[in-house]
Amino acid sequence: MNRFATLKSLLEQRRVFKLVCGAGNEDPEEVRRLSMIYTLAGAIIHDVSANTDIVKAAAKGIDDAYALADNFKININIRPYINVSIGIKGDPHIRKAYIITEKCIGCGSCADVCRQEAIIKKGEWLVEEYRCIGCGDCENVCPSSAIYFTFKKPDFKKILPECVDAGCEIMELHGVSEDDEAVMNDWLLLNEIITDNFISVCLDRSLLSNKHLIQRIKKMYDITGERMIVQADGVPMSGEGDDFNTTLQAVACADIVIKSGIPVIVLISGGTNSKSGILAKQCGVNAHGISVGSYARKIVRPFIKNENFMYDKDLIKKSIEIAQHLVKSNMDALNG
Ligand code: SF4
Ligand code: SF4
Repeated sequence: MNRFATLKSLLEQRRVFKLVCGAGNEDPEEVRRLSMIYTLAGAIIHDVSANTDIVKAAAKGIDDAYALADNFKININIRPYINVSIGIKGDPHIRKAYIITEKCIGCGSCADVCRQEAIIKKGEWLVEEYRCIGCGDCENVCPSSAIYFTFKKPDFKKILPECVDAGCEIMELHGVSEDDEAVMNDWLLLNEIITDNFISVCLDRSLLSNKHLIQRIKKMYDITGERMIVQADGVPMSGEGDDFNTTLQAVACADIVIKSGIPVIVLISGGTNSKSGILAKQCGVNAHGISVGSYARKIVRPFIKNENFMYDKDLIKKSIEIAQHLVKSNMDALNG
């Protein structure tokens, strides 16, 4: 079986757990460690920023996992697929926060809530851009409206083929925008670059009505056919909690896509956690897989932040066990 057929089969068996490192996460060491742990925990797709250094870091993490597998008596059946994500203007996954110094009163509240530890004080408070994932938590707590966001659109025609050369096999468009033309142009570009494997679109209902969402998916499916994945996003980057309510909108969005009858592959995302597969099963939402970002990163963060992590077998073992529980709870529920 080729790599497309292998992934298609796993999706049809509802056995795909996707680790989301963060479309805006450009911290290579963090991505390497996440990829290593979640390869050993059974993740099939690793979603990373469209940046060749980050793709290489994910590939390195996967190689690290193979080197360690015997030590932990783990059999890695299928080498994970590296997916790169691109976004269009307006999509929260690919924006970067920055602080307007003149407005900042120095309270530090933004740093307290930043899950990426991206806000530091160097005389003034500032955002380390490479760590920022655009979640907006800092903006929500800032008492003086000092947080703003930038969006830089790279030259995807140049970068994406380089990402393929670095090891990326599948691609995703974060298409949360009302601009149908811009979204479809980027979709066509991904279809030109990836011709023999899956292409995914990540959509939520923050700007699109249910009807508009389905119309867009139908147009994309007419171009991409069986190679298309819809990542049905509930509330983007909201999944740090591990309860049913946090994951409710993610399951609901997947339900709407599945009920459309378009024969597309559907992954549940955006507010996903260890309960997502269970809620989906209870609700009769037969998605093909689960993508987990914020929660997957949060549960292993205390381990991977340790400077000795890569040399400490106990830390690695504990982080794998925690990640395995997340992967297994979702996969057992989806295909049980
Ligand atoms: S809170 Fe979110 S948006 Fe703000 S700096 Fe941290 S990662 Fe970026
Ligand atoms: S929360 Fe706002 S005012 Fe406080 S340190 Fe951060 S940017 Fe400055």
